[in-house]
Amino acid sequence: MTNPTNHWQNYIGGHWVDAEQTLDIDDPATGAVFASIACADKNDVDRAVAAARQCVDSGVLSDCRPVKRAELLQRIAAEIRKIADKGAPLLARENGKTLNDARDEFLIAARYFEYYAGMADKIEGKSIPLGADYVDFTVYEPVGISAQIVPWNFPVDICARSLAPALAAGNAVIVKSPEISPLGMTWLASACHRAGLPEGALSIICGYGHEAGAALIAHEDIDQIVFTGSVATGQNILRSAAERAIPSVMELGGKSAAVVFPDADMDQLLSSVKWGIFFNAGQVCSAMSRLLVHRDIYDDVVAKVTELAQSLKVGNGMDNADLTPVASARQQQQVLRMCDQAVAEGARLVTGGQAPADRKGYFVEATVFADVTPEMSIFTDEVFGPVIAITPFDSEEEAYALANGTDYGLVAGVFTHDLTTTMRASRALKAGQVFVNEWYAGGIETPFGGIKLSGFGREKGQEALYSYVNTKNVAIRVSK
Ligand code: NAD
Repeated sequence: MTNPTNHWQNYIGGHWVDAEQTLDIDDPATGAVFASIACADKNDVDRAVAAARQCVDSGVLSDCRPVKRAELLQRIAAEIRKIADKGAPLLARENGKTLNDARDEFLIAARYFEYYAGMADKIEGKSIPLGADYVDFTVYEPVGISAQIVPWNFPVDICARSLAPALAAGNAVIVKSPEISPLGMTWLASACHRAGLPEGALSIICGYGHEAGAALIAHEDIDQIVFTGSVATGQNILRSAAERAIPSVMELGGKSAAVVFPDADMDQLLSSVKWGIFFNAGQVCSAMSRLLVHRDIYDDVVAKVTELAQSLKVGNGMDNADLTPVASARQQQQVLRMCDQAVAEGARLVTGGQAPADRKGYFVEATVFADVTPEMSIFTDEVFGPVIAITPFDSEEEAYALANGTDYGLVAGVFTHDLTTTMRASRALKAGQVFVNEWYAGGIETPFGGIKLSGFGREKGQEALYSYVNTKNVAIRVSK
């Protein structure tokens, strides 16, 4: 897709369309506007839903032999692989992330389509024995129209995460892209289009959350909501879903902790800290935002994490710097405000806590707080920036109580080489997934999601597919 003017359109019902308004997109590394995109309103949402309904009613995806859907998903994956190098610079620039990470997002997106292509023809029901008088079986039917709301931190990856299983199961999908980082997703739409996705099976529309997003989730003709984003927005969306009692998947925020025991391998730990909190400038729902460290090694770990934070090369994502800007001025202000509050509440600021003086864009220094206690907001509240809070502990029980001591439950981690401690920790930590000796261990094959305020439902892995189908039981009396 060549686009010399850098103005982008929405993809509705198989067509590229403008809207009455446009949205400017800025470059977080400089703050300068460099592109624009059509900004959808309620009328655009209505058009997308009408196209999706036509697609669902036609049965083009739901009634075909499932291997045809598998082939379609494989073709989409191949198209995504072809465009990864071209789409990555746009995604990196609009989002602030590194070029390498932006390229990886497209490759991960391709993997989602390959993975769920492998499942499209294996969505098998059960035969349930009821004795000689009956034949009973279950079938999985697509839910219909899946409305999906995507956040800005990994827009291409997260879009593919829900889109691929939904299509594999035979649904039509409408995605509302995030208003500050929608451009990479237009490349994803073009890959789907080129692969021959039927008209109406996918619309990707950009617009404000309170306009296009709200209109989509309140639309009376959608059958399901998949939301990834903040807790406050998720709760609003759930109220709307409750009006029509439609099912939803909620992937919300986190305040995840790594528990570090004295036998932890320091190189493994530091490599995990680097990825866990400084990758994508800390804007990861499952970021390692808290480090709970046994007192025997506490001073050493604080010193080494500080050294790591100070060694990171701050710079432009296009240059693949270690620490890139956060995605918006608003996000930068929020992170800096939370750092100021942490200081006011008595946390020890060891390094960072400010915007680097020599940079124009939305940068935040790699920040380490030590001696953080459970009453402090930096211990309980999601920052969504490159900020880690370190707390000492004396006993295993205390460590798990601290780890579980927030309203969130997305991920948790443990660093130890003792098998029995690992097993106790994996039971004691209240979270949707537990990483042992490597933060972010797992992959698209492993179920992902939260408990408590981190949400419900699972994405990724085989389990996710069953969010996109309804089980129907058919009971047949065969005797007179
Ligand atoms: P956000 O809630 O502000 O926005 C998310 C999306 O919701 C955006 O597309 C936005 O336009 C839309 N939206 C906003 N108001 C809406 C409304 N009233 N109706 C419908 N849609 C609306 O979140 P964000 O700032 O984009 O993302 C950051 C948050 O997302 C963090 O809390 C992070 O932890 C969370 N997150 C969670 C996961 C996960 O898998 N659990 C992944 C990424 C991000």
